[in-house]
Amino acid sequence: MRIARFTTGEDPLYGVVTGEIDELGQPSEDSVVVALAGDPLYVGVKLLDQQFRLPDARLLAPVLPRSKVVGIGRNYAAHAAEMGNDVPTEPLMFLKPNTSVVGPGDPVFYPPQTQDLHYEGELAVVIGRICRDVPAEKATDVIHGYTIANDVTARDLQRRDGHFTRAKGFDSFCPLGPWIETDLDPQTFKDGVRVQTFLNGEVVQDGSTADMVFDIPALVAHVSSTMTLLPGDVILTGTPEGVGPMEVGDEVEVSIDGLGTLTNKVATR
Ligand code: MG
Repeated sequence: MRIARFTTGEDPLYGVVTGEIDELGQPSEDSVVVALAGDPLYVGVKLLDQQFRLPDARLLAPVLPRSKVVGIGRNYAAHAAEMGNDVPTEPLMFLKPNTSVVGPGDPVFYPPQTQDLHYEGELAVVIGRICRDVPAEKATDVIHGYTIANDVTARDLQRRDGHFTRAKGFDSFCPLGPWIETDLDPQTFKDGVRVQTFLNGEVVQDGSTADMVFDIPALVAHVSSTMTLLPGDVILTGTPEGVGPMEVGDEVEVSIDGLGTLTNKVATR
């Protein structure tokens, strides 16, 4: 099931998106979004007798993390190498504030403090229930679904600060969407799902989730051994190699097979 959050000009609603996704990650023309009575994270999936053509709905970030977005650094060996880093011996965690989250089609703002703003296309895991100390073999029980993220990073500030908070924490630095797919399984990603990033239509990242250093159950176990996870919290699983700069006016698309495509443009505030 694909759970979206959307507006048609009124208050935002949650909905279930129907229809096929083509190989470019775009939904078919006849896709519709069926409205739901409330946030399915809290009230379950209750369909309303109300539906809209998908092109008539503006999709919003499919989840508003109640407390945090947990990023994982250097989780693909080739990306660690391109940054001149070794692969960590345990997952390298950082936090992005929930105020960094924006939705599909929303602008990513280029802050004046940076001269080196990078895209990082990533698979995102959405947590479905409050949990702590989750063993890897139970990770599936606490996962609500999967979506796509761009872990936008001010690379120069990351190097200069030696910490990730400012470099990854600006408003609009965490585009999420276009929806949450609830039917996939961690094993699917372990087997390998293609993650691609396009900059103005050109492929700049082309990786496979099979190349993650730490798989999804291991990440859920590791993060939840440190901090309690709440419904709607998000774990970003790291980026494949090929990160690079974006400029104002650029369009960035992150596509993950079976999930769809997340598109955002870079803008000045
Ligand atoms: Mg990242």
